Amino acid sequence: MPELPEVEICRRQLRRWSQGAVLREVLLCDPAAVRKTLSTRPSDAVEDAAKRLAPLVGRAPQPPIRHGKRLGWAFGDIGLGIHLGMTGQWIRGDNEQPRSGRVGLRFDHVVLWFVDQRRFGGLTIRPTNELPDLLSSGHGPDALDAPCAGPQLAEIFTGRRAIKVALLDQSKITGLGNIHAAEALWRAGIHPGLACNALSTDQWRRLSKAIPDQLQFAVDAQDGDEIAYITAGGPNPFAVYGRENKECPKCNAEIQKISQSGRSTFLCPSCQRG
Ligand SMILES: [Zn+2]
Repeated sequence: MPELPEVEICRRQLRRWSQGAVLREVLLCDPAAVRKTLSTRPSDAVEDAAKRLAPLVGRAPQPPIRHGKRLGWAFGDIGLGIHLGMTGQWIRGDNEQPRSGRVGLRFDHVVLWFVDQRRFGGLTIRPTNELPDLLSSGHGPDALDAPCAGPQLAEIFTGRRAIKVALLDQSKITGLGNIHAAEALWRAGIHPGLACNALSTDQWRRLSKAIPDQLQFAVDAQDGDEIAYITAGGPNPFAVYGRENKECPKCNAEIQKISQSGRSTFLCPSCQRG
């Protein structure tokens, strides 16, 4: 599943690939990819997908914007909201529909395809001035672009919920998924099972630095023309995630895997005691 860094890289790719180009044609292969709102449900599809996308043709795109894992892409005063869902991505191609190609945007020199095997991803049309609200609706500040200071984090995350579980709550801060929440807690030396109301001022301070550091690390490690998803069998660039029984890069202790709210969490029992 794409996390914030993959979505940020997707944003940069769309900007790079469409720079100075004009949209010439929309190739609509799967009308259900066009939704009434930013939704992961194909049942939210609009009835008139082709008609909704048609006004984009003949316009030059602006650089896309991002909030958390949502993208907005303005074509003049008409905007495209983009949700990648579980398997959505944008690739460069030509007029030929790629495997799982849902919507193709044909520019002068390239066709940019929204491909999505599982079909949870979707596109929606909005006036450009509504895009920022659409992207941030129901979500907290962006974990990379608007990082919170320690005292702010302590105010946002209260109660007895485990910190790792709380960090995945997108309404508090947005953009941390299962991988980067675990990695950020390892960086900060905080046990993922620690209750939010048990974190010290110093732990909040360390976490406030670890979150954007981790996301920036992942963006830098993956930036380029191809996105290497860890789940796709590429090399594992992470310190603890997916490294059960391997050595912690900081202290050589054996990394453990635990389950929290039904999701895997990885930690170093030595570095993350408190
Ligand atoms: Zn360690």
